[in-house]
Amino acid sequence: MRSSRLSGVMPGPAGRNGPDHRRAPTTGMGAGAVDAVDALLPQTQCGRCGYDACRPYAQALARGDADVNRCPPGGEATIAALARILGRPVKALDPACGAAGPRETAIIDESACIGCTVCIRACPVDAIIGARRWMHAVLESECTGCGLCIEPCPMDCISMVPARTGPATPEGWLAERAPFSRRRFERRRRRESALESAPHHRERAGRIDAIESLRTRSAEQRRADIAAAVARVEARKAERGARDAAAVPPAKQAREPGCRPRHGEDRR
Ligand code: SF4
Ligand code: SF4
Ligand code: SF4
Repeated sequence: MRSSRLSGVMPGPAGRNGPDHRRAPTTGMGAGAVDAVDALLPQTQCGRCGYDACRPYAQALARGDADVNRCPPGGEATIAALARILGRPVKALDPACGAAGPRETAIIDESACIGCTVCIRACPVDAIIGARRWMHAVLESECTGCGLCIEPCPMDCISMVPARTGPATPEGWLAERAPFSRRRFERRRRRESALESAPHHRERAGRIDAIESLRTRSAEQRRADIAAAVARVEARKAERGARDAAAVPPAKQAREPGCRPRHGEDRR
């Protein structure tokens, strides 16, 4: 067993993310130990460490199954803090996990957004607002910069830019924003669990999955899909317009739209 300040505590709860994170702890680490490690992680929930979120990485660290150098958003400060609490050597950030860099935030090109809501589903901390068929926007103050909304967007209208609000350094983020992001992430998970047992969830999830499947198609295929969808909407509009025009009595059709009936004219 690896020696650390956290050893000797009882095993903690299983992780949420797949079999790797649910297997029994390999060292005597408990919920308190996992909490202590998790408190050192930035709560970006980006998955760049190779785990689905910060908590599963904390569990793997506490078990002794993961190295301390896998969190790019935390950078050197997080590596040093993890090494200290776990009694392990400090290492350079693992390049396989990506590079550390300035904090970023997502922005949406609202003119290109089709309101499919896929990005809302991808965001782990509910930092995107919008409604079906309406433009969406990022709440910059809530965005952790995880980038998870980029890939699923079928219109490629989300991009990352340097963060314009909030702490600039990993240390500042950890102190000021990480606890808040953890709470938002956990609240979302509780809501998702409750939704999964709701009667309409399967139908809604099916619709969203259909939209998400767009991202597995090539850019050309996606453009063709979207053009076909737009053509269908235009055809329906034209059909409805023709139907409405046919329903108007001939006397009214002869008048300019919106004209009041002339004196003595039949008002029917
Ligand atoms: S912030 Fe760090 S620990 Fe959390 S998911 Fe991202 S890489 Fe993993
Ligand atoms: S808006 Fe995008 S980048 Fe920001 S937290 Fe949500 S998924 Fe991550
Ligand atoms: S995924 Fe893209 S197109 Fe769909 S709502 Fe979000 S920003 Fe708009």
